[in-house]
Amino acid sequence: MGEPAIDFRAFYRYDDLCAHIRALAAWKPDLAAVHVIGQSPEGRDVLLLEITNRRTGPAQEKPSFLVHGNLHASELSGSACALYLSHYLLAHVETDREVAGLLDRITFHILPRVSTDGAEGVLVQQHYVRSRESVETRKNCIGPEDINGDGHIHQMRVPDANGAWFAPDDEPRLCVPRLPGDAGGRRYRLTTEGLIHDWDGGPWEDPAATGFDFNRNWPFGWRARHEQGGAGAYPFSEPEVRAVADFVFAHPNTFGMFGLHNGTNAILRPPTSTDDSDLNAADALAYRRLAALGAEITGFPPKAIHEYRNVLAHPIRLYGTFTEWGYRHCGLFALEIELGNLYNGIGYDTERIFTLTPEQERQRERDVLAWHDAHPEAGVFAEWRPFDHPQLGPVEIGGVLPEGLYNVVPEQRLDVWEKTRRFIFALARRGPRLEIDRVAVEPFGDRLYRVSCRVANEGHWPTHVTALGAGLTHIDGVRVEVERSGDVAFVAGRNRSELGHLQPAECRDIEWVLRASDDKDAVTIIAHAPRAGRCQVRCPLCADQNH
Ligand SMILES: [Zn+2]
Repeated sequence: MGEPAIDFRAFYRYDDLCAHIRALAAWKPDLAAVHVIGQSPEGRDVLLLEITNRRTGPAQEKPSFLVHGNLHASELSGSACALYLSHYLLAHVETDREVAGLLDRITFHILPRVSTDGAEGVLVQQHYVRSRESVETRKNCIGPEDINGDGHIHQMRVPDANGAWFAPDDEPRLCVPRLPGDAGGRRYRLTTEGLIHDWDGGPWEDPAATGFDFNRNWPFGWRARHEQGGAGAYPFSEPEVRAVADFVFAHPNTFGMFGLHNGTNAILRPPTSTDDSDLNAADALAYRRLAALGAEITGFPPKAIHEYRNVLAHPIRLYGTFTEWGYRHCGLFALEIELGNLYNGIGYDTERIFTLTPEQERQRERDVLAWHDAHPEAGVFAEWRPFDHPQLGPVEIGGVLPEGLYNVVPEQRLDVWEKTRRFIFALARRGPRLEIDRVAVEPFGDRLYRVSCRVANEGHWPTHVTALGAGLTHIDGVRVEVERSGDVAFVAGRNRSELGHLQPAECRDIEWVLRASDDKDAVTIIAHAPRAGRCQVRCPLCADQNH
């Protein structure tokens, strides 16, 4: 198959996205393979692309860098960026030495879309979904539904003289939190298009609290839904999240993890539920430097996730997040990027967004509508349309649309994907890397040989990656094995030596005394650590060592 035609600025529906993922693998079958790692409750497979140069070793023997996107349903940019990254690797392997070097040495595992059900709701019904809707319907709660028959599930504003939402007379399309001094206009309750389930005729609820957030369902510091919205019933209760975790634990060679998200642009690192004083000091320093590196490459500000908020807002604590799981349970420098949103596209940078007062935020919403008027094709806003709701009477259905609001504006997408690709490569290059050098075979006569070598970590991270990872017992250190041909026998040394973990630029000398049976004998020295890869050197055992 030839090179697939993919528009990397487009957001694809599930079937088309899967077709593109499979077409990328079919285009370069010696480099790429597709794996199904799990399935959503609605029966959609979660697809993973595995990309490496198999001629230099099987995927599972190389360190693996995991990239996931679209964990949040509305954050479709992650799926497009993941396709861009996958295509970049496959398209440049023959011509770009950096790509060739990476694929010789490591495996990329790329998950373009984790939230397969939710993203379909965003793309088809234009419905805001955090990660996946709950099928649970509570009494007196709106159940999201297309009630006006336009094929979409938009916002619904219900006229209410005491409503918390306001539409000023000079811009009645706005639906914004009311402010002191507001006069005239109309007041509303703002909710989701739908019907109130099992309604007793009294107060009703918005369904926002019942959905799932796949970035709150991880076990480190998990808290139940009444304390952490979207958390799910218990850690890893959601099959898509569990599928990613199962994959990581089935791949102890994973040395890096990176999540693609959309909010106002930023490079994000843990902690999410504490502050830096709660991290290992060396890891906190390394994390700050990695986030600063990402900021330098992308121009996006580096933030600890608990700092990713408006400075005027209450401090945030997020529980059960991916990056804290990746750091605390896997001992990795798990990072995320917020690729950007519409506000960035219309001229609001992150530092400004995070210092806006409520009054300034209202102006920002006016700017969104002005931008929509100039770019009606961008799908940012649906006009409010009157509808006679069977339970609530006259309402209006429409409002801002998640695909347009929560994603990078089309003309900036390729630039953002490319910057993100460069940051991911910079992280992937830093992993631990084993090398064998100073190999010497010294004949003693009588077919006795002393074989020695030095095993070094030539990467930039320890073989356990984070300092915290050194204490995680499921992360193996460096193992050196000797494979012998014929009847080669050990006189001193063993066929397997455990060297423990190696810091960057740390090395260990190791030697053996071997007895060969004839001049054609040889040994192969193999050094391996799950997160640092495998390397080997063949040493012929013959008296003439000059050949
Ligand atoms: Zn997100």
